Order: sequence, then C-alpha cells, then structure tokens
Amino acid sequence: METTRIPAGTPVPGRPDSFRDVIYVWEVLRGLGITIRHLIRNCLHMKDLPTLQYPDEKRVYGPRFRGRHRLTQREDGSPRCVACMMCSTVCPAGCIHIIAAEHPDRRIEKYPAVYEIDLLRCVYCGLCEEACPCDAIRLDTGVYEIVADRRDKFVVGKEFLLNERERGTL
Ligand code: SF4
Ligand code: SF4
Repeated sequence: METTRIPAGTPVPGRPDSFRDVIYVWEVLRGLGITIRHLIRNCLHMKDLPTLQYPDEKRVYGPRFRGRHRLTQREDGSPRCVACMMCSTVCPAGCIHIIAAEHPDRRIEKYPAVYEIDLLRCVYCGLCEEACPCDAIRLDTGVYEIVADRRDKFVVGKEFLLNERERGTL
C-alpha cells in the first residue's frame, strides 16, 4: 500500500493556533464563571439541593429495601428456622453459618443451635429470604447503618438476629 509522507512543518489539524487558545486563560476563566454561578445559585436555593444533611437528615427507603437481617419468631419466642440449610446453600457470599440440632418438640424436626451471619461478607442480595421455606429470615429491618469497632463483631448470632431488630451498632 502506498503511503504519503507529510512534509515537515505541516500544522496538526485542530491544534489551537490563536494566542488566546494557546494560553487557555479564557477557558479557565469561563470554567470558574460556571462554578461561581452554580455556587451562588445553590447558596440562594439551599432547599432545592438534592444533598441530605446526614446524619441529621436520613433518606427514607421503600418498604422493599433490603436492610440488615432478622430471624422471625414463633409465639414462644423461639426461631421459626428449622435449620434446613437452604439459605446457607443459596447464599452467594457463603456468609451464613448454621449448626443444626434436634428439637425437643417432636413436631419440629430441627432447630439452629448456631445461626450466624457475617454482615461484612453479605451482599444483601436477599436470596436467603427467598429460599427460606419457613419465612424464618427477613431483610426487612430497614437498618443500613451497621457499625462496629472490631471486625469480629460483624458476625452476628441467633440471639442478636432474633431480638435486636432496630440496632445497627454491633
Ligand atoms: S442477603 Fe444474600 S449474601 Fe446476604 S446472607 Fe442472604 S443470601 Fe447471603
Ligand atoms: S432460615 Fe429458613 S432457609 Fe435458613 S435454615 Fe432456617 S428455615 Fe432453612
């Protein structure tokens, strides 16, 4: 294929050639003007800003929002969970750890002697909730501010999941 040599000194198309374009000062001033215009407009109309003054203001999420988990209870306060392992099997993060035990009530086959969720590994996909045949686990607490000062505190157990519905501090 034949190639055409570009003679030396040929100006590159599109390169700014006027002095005003080369030093960019005009564009910098124009950008600053836009920034200042937005700043003044936002200061005069603070109420219209989409920014929330967190933590004084908190966003309200819809009822289907998946927050921190909870275990639902029977009337006597025991977990509805029958330790069938469906949730831990389906969990893509592998963050549910269950140890099953025989239930003293013969009508209930098993119960979770240990039921732990590692909240740092959980991706809040809701698959555990969907897979559960007993409606024993839900992500309907609405709790999304989950804080702790040590990593191991994010592994929450059965008692916490049964009782601490509103708590985000572990
Ligand atoms: S919400 Fe998803 S990632 Fe979290 S425990 Fe349930 S199945 Fe696992
Ligand atoms: S929470 Fe539901 S799916 Fe998970 S082990 Fe208990 S009964 Fe089975």
